[in-house]
Amino acid sequence: MTVREHKSQHDKVDSLPLISESATVTGVEAMDENRREEVRQRLLELGTKHSFAAVVPEEGPIDWDLVFETATAAHPQLAPQIGALHNRFDRAHPALVRITFETDEPFDFAAGQYVSIRYGDRSRAYSVASSPTRDETELCVRRVPDGRLSPRLCDELSVGDRITVRGPNGHLLLEDVSPRDKAFLATGTGVAPMKSMIDYLFDTGRDEYEGEARNIWLFLGAAWKDDLPYHEAFLELNESHENFHYIPCLSREPWLTEWDGETEYIQDALLTYVDEQTLDDAAFGRHMATMLASSPTTAIDARIDPHQLEVYACGINAMVYSLETAAKRLGVPERHIHCEGYG
Ligand SMILES: Cc1cc2nc3c(=O)[nH]c(=O)nc-3n(C[C@H](O)[C@H](O)[C@H](O)COP(=O)(O)OP(=O)(O)OC[C@H]3O[C@@H](n4cnc5c(N)ncnc54)[C@H](O)[C@@H]3O)c2cc1C
Repeated sequence: MTVREHKSQHDKVDSLPLISESATVTGVEAMDENRREEVRQRLLELGTKHSFAAVVPEEGPIDWDLVFETATAAHPQLAPQIGALHNRFDRAHPALVRITFETDEPFDFAAGQYVSIRYGDRSRAYSVASSPTRDETELCVRRVPDGRLSPRLCDELSVGDRITVRGPNGHLLLEDVSPRDKAFLATGTGVAPMKSMIDYLFDTGRDEYEGEARNIWLFLGAAWKDDLPYHEAFLELNESHENFHYIPCLSREPWLTEWDGETEYIQDALLTYVDEQTLDDAAFGRHMATMLASSPTTAIDARIDPHQLEVYACGINAMVYSLETAAKRLGVPERHIHCEGYG
């Protein structure tokens, strides 16, 4: 199968059918937090422990070069952590926004599709994060530093502004109702089409087949906890539906807080939930075999039978390729693997 690249679709967005020339923005909200002072406190704690607190000011700008040199001179193992904290300290806020808008006439779209948004002189594609069953149409936009449109959507867009909306388009769509379980895997805003599909499944009772609940998995990866779009909504769904299993995976959060959840890549986290009894006698590489033999970090009892699974993935290409390869080797039939990579 081929992984569709979002980038290759940029050119098309201005030629999609017009939905509304002047849709009204009804909400713009930051989804992430400004964590600068939290980063400073963490740095001070580290500095106290490793004797470099003298170069960490208690307020105002931080001389990160000085901090880096002083901290890593005696403790080179701190380099990745200091680098990550620096990166987080300098990050513009908001870097993740939820945008809602209203069109004069409701428009039809399928869960998983995207629309094009024109604001000012620039159009870009954004997946619809809300389910077609909901009243509000919602997008989830991540700031691409120095990008031409996303920083303006994060910083300038306000309630009452007008945007041009075209579409819908896209082929990352749910299969017909079937007894198969479903695994959704996404990094960052790649979760937007998944949010639409998951809400649609539960809103329409398609999480069940002939009265029997199917397992719906969501493996969502990000660097920091507040980069997990819809974290609270997914936790609530986890609480209210025994067949929904939400596994957030965070790569950098343990450097800032006492995060005790998954830190693996999402495709690796998925392997830890696979029921090994269901696997054919395929030879797996060392890494895959290790992950398959590892215990999950959660108390979730459910396990995955790859032969009975549909896989939906959206996010950075590296994750999507790696996941697609792993899914095929596990025995997920190719026609049940649906991927979209965006750079
Ligand atoms: C079908 C489709 C659905 C999409 N859905 C979403 C969505 O739901 N939410 C969302 O935030 N974005 C989504 N995107 C990405 C979005 O269309 C823009 O590419 C993104 O907002 C950057 O636009 P920009 O004008 O700010 O940056 P540009 O000025 O276009 O790009 C600046 C540079 O950043 C690179 N780049 C583009 N996107 C990313 C990225 N995500 N991460 C890192 N580098 C990047 C570009 O290749 C370019 O080199 C989607 C794209 C497609 C094609």
